[in-house]
Amino acid sequence: MDFPTQLFIDGAWTDASDGATFDVIDPSTGELIAKVADATEDDVRAMIDGAAFAQDPWAAMPAVERAAILRRAARIFEERIDELAQLLSREQGKPVAQAIGEWQYGIGFLDWFAEEARRVHGTTIPATTSAKRIITLKQPLGVTACITPWNFPSLQILRKLGACLAAGCTMVLKPAELTPLSALEIARVFADAGLPPGVLQVATSDDAPKVSGVFMADARVRAISFTGSTEVGKILMRGAADTMKRVSLELGGHAPFIVFEDADMDLVHREAMAVKLRNMGQTCVSANRFFVHESVADVFSKRLAEAFAELTVGNALEGGTDVGPLVEEAALVKVEAHVADAVAKGAQVLLGGKRAETDTESRLYFEPTVIRGADETMLLAQEETFGPVAPIFTFTDEDDVVRRANDSDYGLAGYFFTRDLNRAIRVAERLDYGTVGVNDAQISAVQAPFGGVKQSGIGREGGALGIEEYLDTKYLSLGGL
Ligand code: ADP
Repeated sequence: MDFPTQLFIDGAWTDASDGATFDVIDPSTGELIAKVADATEDDVRAMIDGAAFAQDPWAAMPAVERAAILRRAARIFEERIDELAQLLSREQGKPVAQAIGEWQYGIGFLDWFAEEARRVHGTTIPATTSAKRIITLKQPLGVTACITPWNFPSLQILRKLGACLAAGCTMVLKPAELTPLSALEIARVFADAGLPPGVLQVATSDDAPKVSGVFMADARVRAISFTGSTEVGKILMRGAADTMKRVSLELGGHAPFIVFEDADMDLVHREAMAVKLRNMGQTCVSANRFFVHESVADVFSKRLAEAFAELTVGNALEGGTDVGPLVEEAALVKVEAHVADAVAKGAQVLLGGKRAETDTESRLYFEPTVIRGADETMLLAQEETFGPVAPIFTFTDEDDVVRRANDSDYGLAGYFFTRDLNRAIRVAERLDYGTVGVNDAQISAVQAPFGGVKQSGIGREGGALGIEEYLDTKYLSLGGL
């Protein structure tokens, strides 16, 4: 498959102005996939110039026409989905079936926001005198800089881009350096769908602070939309202060998964498998702490370990692979450190706990792992593990488990399982998370507002609120009537 590797500026593919490139590696095999242009600061400035130039005509285009471009792009993504999924799996490592699912979910956001584009309503408000009228308008913020992570190389972009374009904003995108190829394909599809030049610019680079430094210094960039680590989110929020940019931040999570004694254990099992192993555990909504009632902990642990043992670990591109590689060596080192720390503090490894051997050269595979006897002193209770490791904590008391589940700086997603209706309402209200799954751990939905509280971020993506991140409210006071 041929795929773009250059910068996308004003609708054209160009090399970096100094000719620099960086390597993109296939984590399944360790092979070089491509050399991709590394934007200079001048290139990024040129992209902001182009986006600023394109902004007014794009905002002035009727919403239904902007929506039509989103829909056309959605249909082109569908036509090309098999090739796109292969490319995504190659650069990121998730099995192809999951990559197809990721593109489909992203396409869903384009269709959703195509609908939302024409529902950007203002209001009229009764004035205190008959000589006045009060009207509000919703207007696009303007040029938006967007920085995205590698774990969902297409979804994380399409969810933002759909809302941004529907609102009438332009975007300068810096995708993750590990997975720039899906981002460049997104630019190609939108160009084919008729997106005017300059409305989407793509600044690939493996020097993120360099690119974001240009974003931050430029007052024309009115918003930063970021998904990634809490640490980088804080840097961006500080950086945005000087020119008072709107920030929209989807940051880390540390999801609790609570199993009460009365839960439907078949359902618990299905949901635990899905939420732990999706993308090899490299998601911000992945279950990080399984709190299981003491009376069902043995059954749960044994069944999870048996199911994990059945999984095929291997090259993401091979059919039959359930669990691909982690994305890079640093990810493996972190997972190994979490397991070693837990064992040193008394936990027992029921299954896995080490790198997996495969028939590829890559050493980035980790065995699906189940750990019993986890407690709050362990690193894995505090930091995101971002790997296929399920640590099991036990509890006996509802108040106690809610307190422990909330004992985290993060507040993105949390899940719990019970058949007691009163408990379901009590616990759902008390969990300090932006998204709570009740008897459900697969919470992704285009029509729902996704986002975190505490240090998991600011703002919501998707749903009717998603487009608001890219809109300002202007108030018109009409007098002299
Ligand atoms: P992850 O742990 O998921 O890699 P990061 O927050 O490090 O999360 O990366 C998410 C995105 O943020 C990537 O596109 C990365 O290049 C970018 N990034 C990393 N460091 C910085 C930084 N100092 N300033 C701006 N962007 C950054």
